[in-house]
Amino acid sequence: MKFERTYSVLPMRSRRELSALAEKIFIEQGSMKRLGVRPDPLSRFIKEIGDRYRDNPYHNFQHAVDTLYTMAWLLNLPIFKKNLPDFHKYLLLMTALVHDVEHPGHDNQWEIKTHSPLAKKYNNMSVIENHSLAVSKELLEDPELDVFASIEEYKRQDILKLFDQLILCTDFSWHKVFLDELTEGTSRNKFDFKEKEFLSLMCRTLIKAADISNTSKPFRQAKVWGQRVMNEFWAQGEMEKKFNLPVGPLNDSSKSEFNSAQAGFIKFAAYELFALLSRVEEKSEEMVRALQQNQIIYERNAERAAASLK
Ligand SMILES: [Zn+2]
Repeated sequence: MKFERTYSVLPMRSRRELSALAEKIFIEQGSMKRLGVRPDPLSRFIKEIGDRYRDNPYHNFQHAVDTLYTMAWLLNLPIFKKNLPDFHKYLLLMTALVHDVEHPGHDNQWEIKTHSPLAKKYNNMSVIENHSLAVSKELLEDPELDVFASIEEYKRQDILKLFDQLILCTDFSWHKVFLDELTEGTSRNKFDFKEKEFLSLMCRTLIKAADISNTSKPFRQAKVWGQRVMNEFWAQGEMEKKFNLPVGPLNDSSKSEFNSAQAGFIKFAAYELFALLSRVEEKSEEMVRALQQNQIIYERNAERAAASLK
């Protein structure tokens, strides 16, 4: 299996197909085999995780497998292939697979605004990410599903600590803070993966990049993912209106125009992350170029949409 940046998981709809692809990605990427991880708990774990993803417009099992696929592609780029330890590669694949498990289909603000049991449980902090993390860890306690059982190189505590960091950093409310850290961490010319902090920074960059990489896919694919995100936001907006709650800025379908919202997301959130990633691995520049192209198309479409309203 040759990992391609432009590959699409969109034609795969059933959990069975997606689980089979996920397993294949783990096997073909290779880190798992080199670490001596047995395939049985992995296939059981993938099935269990797949069953726990909800059928949300965007945060569903297809998004998880798409993130996993792109992660495998990123890990195959020369600098990461050479410098990341197998343990980290395997953990990154695992994080990509589980990072949105049991996502409720609305955002953390909804949990907080409605004083949900989960918001209380996690003190309003990265509520949904903490929940996905807890679900994953609970599954790992079952020896039949423990995909980290045969890894001896690192202690279990170390594995789980890194796992926490990687899942929690997908909370987008910390995006700007993260970009500052990444700007600083990539400002020198030499990148030392043996340095613990830099290694951690790169792992977090990779999971964040894989998570939003669908914005850098060929336009037709990117647009489908974008529409799914907006459908999830707008459904939340309807609920917010219904319950007289403040409506989130992107959640009002009468105010947020699809093309402008997508162009804005690339311009203000995605572009910088991928541009900084390409400082470390220049081959990821193709993602930056694809993002720029998509932004131009969205902006043009937004202008047309605005003109047709006049
Ligand atoms: Zn995600």
